[in-house]
Amino acid sequence: MRSGFVTIAGRPNVGKSTLINTIVGEKVTITSSRPNTTRHQIRGVLTTDEAQVVFVDTPGIHRPKTQLGQRLNESALTALDGVEVLVALIEASAAIGPGDRMVLSRSLTAAGTTDGPALLVAVNKMDKAGPARTAEQLTLALAATEELAEGLGAGAKAAAQAAEFFPISAKTGRGVPALVASIIGRLSEGPAYYPDDMISDQGDAAHVAELVREQLLSRTRDELPHSIHCQVTEWEGNAIRVEILVERESQKGIVIGKGGEMLKEVGTAARAQLPPGTHLELFVRVEKRWQSRSEVLDRFGI
Ligand code: GDP
Ligand code: MG
Repeated sequence: MRSGFVTIAGRPNVGKSTLINTIVGEKVTITSSRPNTTRHQIRGVLTTDEAQVVFVDTPGIHRPKTQLGQRLNESALTALDGVEVLVALIEASAAIGPGDRMVLSRSLTAAGTTDGPALLVAVNKMDKAGPARTAEQLTLALAATEELAEGLGAGAKAAAQAAEFFPISAKTGRGVPALVASIIGRLSEGPAYYPDDMISDQGDAAHVAELVREQLLSRTRDELPHSIHCQVTEWEGNAIRVEILVERESQKGIVIGKGGEMLKEVGTAARAQLPPGTHLELFVRVEKRWQSRSEVLDRFGI
C-alpha cells in the first residue's frame, strides 16, 4: 500500500475544488464561478487497491484585502509544506499572470527543500481552451517554471527539472487519470490514514452550511458572495437550522429576496441534495464587517 498527502495549489478559480471532486468521484467541496469559495482546507480521500491519496484543498493564493483574505492565504501557504506531492494548477485559456507565477514560485520553493514534495504542473480547462492553446500553455508553463527556478537556488532548479506537466480538464475528467497515476507513482509505502469508505473529513454540519452557501453564491452578484457566511446553529433529528450572516442590512434584503422568494429557492435547492425528509430552516442575520473582525473569524473557526 502506498499513501500520502497531496496539495492542489493554484490561484482562485483555476479549478482546484473541481479537480478534487472529479478525482474523488463525489462532491466533497463546493465549487463556484467566483474566486475564494473554499474557506477551509477540506480533504478529499481517494482509496484504491494500491494506494490512499489524501487531497488537501486550499482556498487559493492571492493578494489579501481583508483579514479573511489574509487568513485564507496563510492557510493556503501552510498547505504547501509537509505533503508528498504538490500539484500546481494553471488555466489553459488565460495568460500565465502574476498570480500563477506566485503559485509556481512558492511551489518550487517548497519542492526544492530537502524531503520536499514532488512537483507536478497541470494545465486545466483544456476542454475550454482547445488542443492548440493547451499545447501552447504547456510550453509556456514549462518555460515559466524553469525561469522562476533560476532565481530560487539549486533545490528549486532540481525540482523544476523533475517536474512533470499534464494537460487536463477537471470538468470532463480528460487527462485526469494520467495525473492521478503520476501522483500515486510518487507516493511511498505507507498505511491508509482513513477508513476506505471515507471520502472527506468535512463534518456533516459544515457540508450542509456549504450547500446553502453554494446556492446563495450562484444567485448573487458583485461583492455579496464574499460577505456571506453560513453556519449550522441547530441540528435535531432531521431538522437543521442554518444561519446566513451578511455584513449589511441591504445585503439581508437581497438574500431574502422579494417576498422571501430568494431564500425559498435557496432552501429548496439545498434540501434537494440532502436526505429525503430533511427539514431546512434558513435565517439571515447582519454581522457588521465580519470579514475584518478577528473575533468573528475566530468564532467561525476560519
Ligand atoms: P477553485 O477556486 O480553484 O477551487 O475553482 P473551482 O473548482 O471552484 O472552479 C472555478 C470555476 O471553473 C467553476 O465554474 C468550474 O466549473 C470551472 N472549471 C473548473 N475546471 C474546469 C474545466 O476543466 N473546464 C471548464 N470549462 N471549467 C472548469
Ligand atoms: Mg475551491
